[in-house]
Order: sequence, then C-alpha cells, then structure tokens
Amino acid sequence: MSSPALNTSRSEEIFTAAQSLMPGGVSSPVRAFKSVGGQPIVFDRVKGAYAWDVDGNRYIDYIGSWGPAICGHARPEVVSALQEAVEKGTSFGAPCALENQLAEMVIDAVPSVEMVRFVNSGTEACMSVLRLMRSFTGREKVIKFEGCYHGHADMFLVKAGSGVATLGLPDSPGVPRATTSSTLTAPYNDLEAVKELFAENPDAIAGVILEPIVGNAGFITPEPGFLEGLRELTREHGALLVFDEVMTGFRISYGGAQKHFGVTPDLTTMGKVIGGGLPVGAYGGRADIMAMVAPAGPMYQAGTLSGNPLAMTAGIKTLELLREPGTYERLEAMTQRLSAGILEAGKDAGLPICGGSVSAMFGFFLCAGPVHNFEDAKASDTARFGRVHRAMLERGVYLAPSAFEAGFTSLAHSEADIDATIKAFQESFRQVA
Ligand SMILES: *Cc1c(COP(=O)(O)O)cnc(C)c1O
Repeated sequence: MSSPALNTSRSEEIFTAAQSLMPGGVSSPVRAFKSVGGQPIVFDRVKGAYAWDVDGNRYIDYIGSWGPAICGHARPEVVSALQEAVEKGTSFGAPCALENQLAEMVIDAVPSVEMVRFVNSGTEACMSVLRLMRSFTGREKVIKFEGCYHGHADMFLVKAGSGVATLGLPDSPGVPRATTSSTLTAPYNDLEAVKELFAENPDAIAGVILEPIVGNAGFITPEPGFLEGLRELTREHGALLVFDEVMTGFRISYGGAQKHFGVTPDLTTMGKVIGGGLPVGAYGGRADIMAMVAPAGPMYQAGTLSGNPLAMTAGIKTLELLREPGTYERLEAMTQRLSAGILEAGKDAGLPICGGSVSAMFGFFLCAGPVHNFEDAKASDTARFGRVHRAMLERGVYLAPSAFEAGFTSLAHSEADIDATIKAFQESFRQVA
C-alpha cells in the first residue's frame, strides 16, 4: 500500500538551519524525531485540535503541547483573557490578586493541596518539592521509579523517563555522583521493592515520588493496591508521599489522579494544564509542610517570574473551562473510543499490541504486554513504532515522536477527528505489519 505524499520542504529548510543554531535544532529534546526517523515538523500555528506546519499541512494533534492544551489550542476564552491581561503588564514582581484566584481553585480541586507555591515549570516544581521533602523530614534519601520523569534536575536524572528513555541516554553526564547518591530507584508497580528499600535504609528516606499514572515511559497505569500500598508504607516509615501530577493534574480529573484513585499524597507537583499553555509549575500539599517554605519558613525557593499575571490568567481560564459539568465525561468517552479503535486496528493488522486510556490520556505499546513497568515497556517494537509514526504523519495525525510517551486528547477533538484518526491507524498498522 502506498502512502500519501507529504511535502515538508519548508520544515526541512528551517530545521536544517536550526541545527547549527541550537543543539539538535530544538529547544527540548523530546521534540526531535531521533527515535522515529525523519526530521521534525516545524509548526506555524495551532488551533483547537489541529496544528498546521510551515508547509501548510494540517495535523490532528495528540500531543497538545505535551499536555497543557486540554481545552484545545488557542481557546478564544483563554486568548481574549490573555489579551486583556497583557495590557496591564506582563510581570509585576509583586503580589497580584490572580495568584490568590488560581491558588484557591487548585486548593479547592486537589485533595492533598492546602497551600500552594507557583513556579515556572514542572522541573522547578519537582526540584523544589524534593528540597521540601528533605527539609521537612530531615532525611536525604528519596525513592523514585524507573521510567518516571520528574524534570531534568540532577537528583532525578536516574533511570528517568521521557526524552532520557526515548533517546536511550544513560543517566546524564554532568550530574555529580554525590547529587544522585541519595536517589533510590524501584520498578513501577513493585511494592515489594519499595518495602526492601525502606528496610535497607531505616529512618533515612524522606519520601517517595511518582507519577500516579505514568506518561513518560509510555502510558502505564498503577496496579490496584499500588498507590494505596505506597500511602501505607510511607506513613509507617515517617516518610512523605509525593504525586508528581505535572502531567496528570487536571487531566485525569478536575482534582487530578489522586482524586480519581482516592489516594491522597502529602505533597503534589503540577504544571502543564494549570498554566493553560504558558510556563507554570506549582507544588503544594499539607499546610504544616508548606509552612517550611520561605518566607513562611526556612526552606529557600524563589522565582522572578513566578506567579506572573499572564500565566495565572491562562491557568484560571483553563480551569474555569474544565470545571464545567460533563467535561471529563466527554474526554473519557472520546479517549476510550480512540484507544479501543487503536487496539482493534493493531490486532486486525496482526500486530502484537497493548494499551489503554484513563480520562484524557492514552497510549499503546507494540508488544503483547501487559506492561506494568518500564522494563516491560522496553519489549515494545520501537523501530516499528517509528514507521507507524511516519505513516500517521502522512495521514495528517501528529503523535508524540516516541514509543515512550503518552497521548493526549482535548475538548476540541471532534467525533469526526477520532474517526479519522482510527482510520489512519488502520491503514498505518496494515502498512507496517
Ligand atoms: C513534563 C513533566 C515534568 C517536567 O515539567 P517541565 O515543565 O517540562 O519542566 C515533570 N514531571 C512530569 C510527570 C512531567 O510529565
């Protein structure tokens, strides 16, 4: 079967120039097409469920800027609120009422959050929360899981997911051994391994941090009892439980994955959706722990642009749209239908495939599965995934250029978009089978 031609000559020109200007031609490694082959597509604009490249091709977008675009790109409500806000100035460097407004919305929605600190990225939120875990408990060690990504701070670049996993990088050079010597790792969904780490390191572990649904090692869900078990274990050992909800926050439900699963951590990190497409991160949790953060307490953490009025405005508008009744039911139904269509298309083409969805997040692996952790995920056929990725691009569907990233739907995706995507998967899977 021949695939439709895709003219990307202008993209190629721009990306070729970019390579001598910026390392790898990109501002973030996950945007490169290294693991799927070919060159990245250079975007010109995004709107609703679609992205248009500089050659004028239109794609149905399932990355959504890696998560933030859950209401659809450039939602008119968000755009006009931003236009109004920008007239009042882009950054105050002083308190503004919008911070209270977004803080109240986050505190009302997310079960674990009694107080919150705004920062500028998910990375910043995670590195700050680790400092907080350590300062509150007076302990240094932390447990993370293989394939989970918590931003690019030194302490977390141990068996990390996202681009680190996609590009097959070892734990990054330039990270001093001393910085990661306190980072312990366990396989996801392996409660026994966590128990052992606690037993081997008595009174030394500050806490456990994890993605409550993994999106950075492909899409992996927690087994029943895993989150509950971590909640019990951390309590038992005087350690803190931290959910990194930078990806899942306000995507899995209006209160995040913690609300969906009914397991409340001590602290939570957020980003992506709560910034509505502008640079925002946040960490929050129990008031007695947050009281450690300067200037209320001694743990130092600051930011020139933190809580700036533009980012707060985009976040507030986005959450307002999300809290309208029926939002998550719609996202869930649409994503389930897409996911079922993908799995069926794969099976019809005779490919080994597994996967699923929760709310507005989905994923599949080209292996028989089941996939419970990153080790299982590595059994998937990444070379074939690269061919699927290319075949989908040629059919106007933009997927993450990695077998180890989750997919995202938005309120802007129509039933017709989902139908077209499933049809594209049917053709693409047959083409690569
Ligand atoms: C994206 C992500 C981060 C990092 O956020 P940035 O804004 O890219 O720094 C951290 N944790 C998780 C779970 C993420 O998905």
